[in-house]
Amino acid sequence: MLTQHHLLPAAHAGTQRQLRSLHFGPGRSGRKAYLQASLHADEVPPMLVAQSLIQRLQRLEAEGAIEGRIVLVPLANPVGLSQDLQGSALGRFDLATGLNFNRQFKHLGTSVARAVAPRLGDDLQANTREVRRVLGEQLAAWQAQTETEALKRQLQCLAHDADLVLDLHCDNQAVMHLYVGSAQVDAARPLAGYLGAQALLHTPLAGDEPFDETLARLWWELAEHFAGRHPIDPLGCVGLTVELRGETDVSQSLADQDAQGLIAYLQQQGHVAGEAPPVPTACEPTPLEAVEPVTAPCPGIVVFAKAPGDWVLKGELVAEIVDPLTDERTPLHARSSGRCFARSARRYASRGMRLAKIAGHEAYRSGKLLSL
Ligand SMILES: [Zn+2]
Repeated sequence: MLTQHHLLPAAHAGTQRQLRSLHFGPGRSGRKAYLQASLHADEVPPMLVAQSLIQRLQRLEAEGAIEGRIVLVPLANPVGLSQDLQGSALGRFDLATGLNFNRQFKHLGTSVARAVAPRLGDDLQANTREVRRVLGEQLAAWQAQTETEALKRQLQCLAHDADLVLDLHCDNQAVMHLYVGSAQVDAARPLAGYLGAQALLHTPLAGDEPFDETLARLWWELAEHFAGRHPIDPLGCVGLTVELRGETDVSQSLADQDAQGLIAYLQQQGHVAGEAPPVPTACEPTPLEAVEPVTAPCPGIVVFAKAPGDWVLKGELVAEIVDPLTDERTPLHARSSGRCFARSARRYASRGMRLAKIAGHEAYRSGKLLSL
């Protein structure tokens, strides 16, 4: 295992932070997988899963079972981790700007397409190498203005040439679920099976440049752009966001179970030698456009009738909002049937607050699809 430390430019005097990346395998096969934990720094389950992964990957490396390279960043956001406000962890948004740490990564589709166009040929593998080389160059040239931008650049540089990117997160209160680009649903199914995911949510474009989508969509967009001229692998980088249940679902047994599932997937994808275990039956993929964000139409106390993992029928009661001034109770009913896969941990709602998410089957939303 090779350890690298990456210093971030200090936002303030005396506060220099660093990232640690762990590199497993000799890099002989040219294949690379990249995993990172807790880009949203207040999401702790991925950090413990990463610890479990380190032990397993060290063992596999010692056995010679990693031919290519597997890179793991066990704590992806030291900036967010430091945002502790009077006992409350605020690791989702950069307090300096209000921006979500998992938005506005650098999408370089147009400039990469322009730069590689004269250098592409008929060889798919050679084209893949050329796209990665140019992408690496352009990311390295990114002049980060702030500490957070430098963090994003560093993470993207570490991941840009990977065949597989797994961004490990969790939700408020949730069951295991995954997000992926629609073009990559088939590649994601085995992971959903190994992890026992209860929702596999896909969309052609979630918007706002989250980490995994920015890395992955470059490939299917370039494949489309050069279609009929040069072959580009639309799956040049399979990118997935893994939501490891809820933020308090932190236990050694869950972490070990999830690490085992991730290793099985790495094996199934050819990043770890040996025969992968049979893929358990996975949930059916559903469109992200069909996720119903159950929203509070008024302020009040939230009394849930459904929990993550529950199957909800159209018209069923999901929650009630109780107004503490008028005693009025407002029932909230599901607009379509589906799996309730996440809900808020707060039990007081302001008007418009998102309370729960249900993975429906009929797409009805458009525009930017991710929550804030
Ligand atoms: Zn997250």
